[in-house]
Amino acid sequence: MCETNNEKVRCLIVGSGPAGYTAAIYASRANLQPVLYEGLQPGGQLTTTTEVENFPGYPEGISGPQMMEDLKKQAERFGTDMRYGIVTATDLSKAPYKVMIDNEKTIETETLIIATGASAKYLGLEDEQKYAGMGVSACATCDGFFYRKKTVAVVGGGDTACEEAIYLAGLAKQVYLIVRKPYLRASKVMQERVLNNPKITVLFEHNTIGLFGENGVEGAHLVKRKGEPDEEMVDIAIDGFFLAIGHKPNSDVFKPWVKTDEVGYIMTIDGTPRTGIPGVFAAGDVADPHYRQAITAAGSGCKAAIEAERYLTEIGK
Ligand code: NDP
Repeated sequence: MCETNNEKVRCLIVGSGPAGYTAAIYASRANLQPVLYEGLQPGGQLTTTTEVENFPGYPEGISGPQMMEDLKKQAERFGTDMRYGIVTATDLSKAPYKVMIDNEKTIETETLIIATGASAKYLGLEDEQKYAGMGVSACATCDGFFYRKKTVAVVGGGDTACEEAIYLAGLAKQVYLIVRKPYLRASKVMQERVLNNPKITVLFEHNTIGLFGENGVEGAHLVKRKGEPDEEMVDIAIDGFFLAIGHKPNSDVFKPWVKTDEVGYIMTIDGTPRTGIPGVFAAGDVADPHYRQAITAAGSGCKAAIEAERYLTEIGK
């Protein structure tokens, strides 16, 4: 790893969702002089959501991007050094840990808080790449605007899919929700909102096998009740195809050093953000296959910063 362009810090936070920003608030208030790298999607997944209605303290709800902006400001107020940049390599074999940013700069840090979150998953169809930016999206709030008064489909049956379908129903003429099972996995309240929305048609037991269109998406090829005796091919005419089938944890660049489960979630010591490497902590969705909520991510970011502070005191740095 590059030795020439080095900088030494006490606390490096990677990621800018609720976990990273909360860690930054606590770490800066504890005078750890944290440096935070925001990554590819400053503000994280919540910048792609609409209303957050379940974060305590906001009785009327708050928009995801606004909440992240507020968290960022709060961290900056206490002196967090906020930077743009992507981690491209790591060496966590011994402290101080080396973290390369944008393939050009190496940060040497006594403590590292990994809060890199998770990214949207795709079905793995060739057509998703063929029509990338031409009708295929994994973010309704980013791209929904382009589909006003048009017809779109959302794939998935969880809370994200329902939320995106409802959001898109506010803009589009019609929304199909393509669900592979005969039921929705989403919470009851979201299910009701979807099923009662006259603009949303839920296609239960449907799988997408391809997309078609000349200059962008014009439709999707679906299979109804795949593998059953009454299996049926169904084509729908759509202008936009939105994925909402879950997320993959962004842990690859740390994998040689920290333990991950089979999906890639960083495994931490029960109930703590400790990774097993002294001074290296993981917080938020990158280490949470179970809850994946803004409030639990924020809580684990807080724990990680407290752990970092205690660790630095222990080693006298
Ligand atoms: P989930 O993992 O909860 O749901 C993923 C959905 O995608 C499931 O319906 C799943 O189907 C479907 N799916 C997965 N792979 C495929 C595939 N290859 N083809 C077709 N369908 C597929 O992810 P979410 O992103 O919806 O939610 C993640 C977490 O975040 C959850 O805990 C959720 O509650 C939370 N959340 C909360 C919100 C809120 O409270 N406002 C908003 C958004 C998310 P199947 O059911 O068959 O496995």
